Amino acid sequence: MQVDPAPGPDPVLDSPERAALRDTLRRLVDTVSPAERIAALDEAEEFDVDLFAALGAAGVLAIGAPAAAGGAGDGRDQLVVVEELGAGPTSMAAFVIAHYAVTQVLAAYGHTPAHADLVDRLVAGATRCAFALSEPAGGTDVARVMRTRAVPDGDGWRLAGQKLWTSGAREAEAIVVLARTAPIEASPVHGVTMFLVPRDAPGVEVRTIDTFGIRGCSTCEVFLDDVALPADAVLGEVDRGMRQVFATINREGLNATAACLGVGRAALDLVTGYAREREVFGRPIGGFQGPQHGLVDGAVALESARSLMWRAAEVEVAGGDAGVLAAMAKLVASEAAVDLTLKGMQLMGGLGYTRAVAMGRLFRDVRLWSFSPLTNEMVRNRIGEQHLGLPRSY
Ligand SMILES: Cc1cc2nc3c(=O)[nH]c(=O)nc-3n(C[C@H](O)[C@H](O)[C@H](O)COP(=O)(O)OP(=O)(O)OC[C@H]3O[C@@H](n4cnc5c(N)ncnc54)[C@H](O)[C@@H]3O)c2cc1C
Repeated sequence: MQVDPAPGPDPVLDSPERAALRDTLRRLVDTVSPAERIAALDEAEEFDVDLFAALGAAGVLAIGAPAAAGGAGDGRDQLVVVEELGAGPTSMAAFVIAHYAVTQVLAAYGHTPAHADLVDRLVAGATRCAFALSEPAGGTDVARVMRTRAVPDGDGWRLAGQKLWTSGAREAEAIVVLARTAPIEASPVHGVTMFLVPRDAPGVEVRTIDTFGIRGCSTCEVFLDDVALPADAVLGEVDRGMRQVFATINREGLNATAACLGVGRAALDLVTGYAREREVFGRPIGGFQGPQHGLVDGAVALESARSLMWRAAEVEVAGGDAGVLAAMAKLVASEAAVDLTLKGMQLMGGLGYTRAVAMGRLFRDVRLWSFSPLTNEMVRNRIGEQHLGLPRSY
């Protein structure tokens, strides 16, 4: 039986609407962002503005946003979008994950007509925003080590500090910034507030970091030098910003899983095509048991992650706690995808070491989700504690 490595509509996982969405995404990527363009933009470290505009026009950027803001669909539809982008323009998958997170936060905690207007323009693809939580002193225990601070100043606030690894900040209209507003007392999670900071506000400086992967989306340092903000820059409640973003970070983890499934699928597609054709000692490489079993293990791991991911998504949509399932899915998917790209490069020999094929870029890109939004070590800690009931190990 010949298996299509890019799964078609799945009667269990893909509703007819989601199957149609998957088709739309595949067509859109094929037409607007074919492989040569993806490689060229990666090389030039440029964002794909044409693809972003096309995603906006197709309504893809509105998925998961409230209906009042022109949104449609839910987290399951986001998974379809991110997987399809992950399989091709992976940098756009990374950006869209951040876009969905920022839109969710602004829709939930924005409270002024200007915030509502920003959400409208985000879902239409007319503007872009960024989300800045991580800092130089650490991303994993960021609440404990957060140095960015905001202090009341008249009716407003003064913000100072530095953020690191902020996706898309270079091109953003505004940045959602988390800052400490009260000292750490019982829990570091308390006393952090979320602010909406215009990218061009006096005192804001953004510098691009030269990253190994996801080069089609800027990754930035954001310097905040005594930035004056009005009172209504606060999103949600003062001192409750960390709690407010937890749901967003969980959702980001699930979307990261979908991106890994896309990359893993693309890697498998590329390498199995090669292994069927390329011969050594008179036989296709894929006809040798060692390489074949390695690819089979990768395919099985990806499909296991897919099942976990969809189960988590269904639990989430039903209003349940999908945290552990989502953590398991992200762990399996990110490790399987990295492993497949490494195996893919090895199986392709010298060719796998060139930029003529996408395998190297897929490896560079997918490494991101081994440590982001949560590192796989912390993901294991969480599963150990919450699923197995073991003592907290950190
Ligand atoms: C391309 C890119 C885009 C990003 N985009 C964003 C963004 O838009 N917004 C944002 O806020 N952040 C973003 N990030 C940051 C990302 O979320 C962090 O890199 C991630 O949270 C890890 O933080 P860290 O890099 O500071 O690593 P650290 O927290 O310093 O961790 C380093 C290592 O120590 C390990 N470790 C830490 N604690 C434990 C423990 N208890 N047990 C075992 N091991 C442990 C970790 O698992 C990891 O392997 C981005 C990063 C990159 C590279």
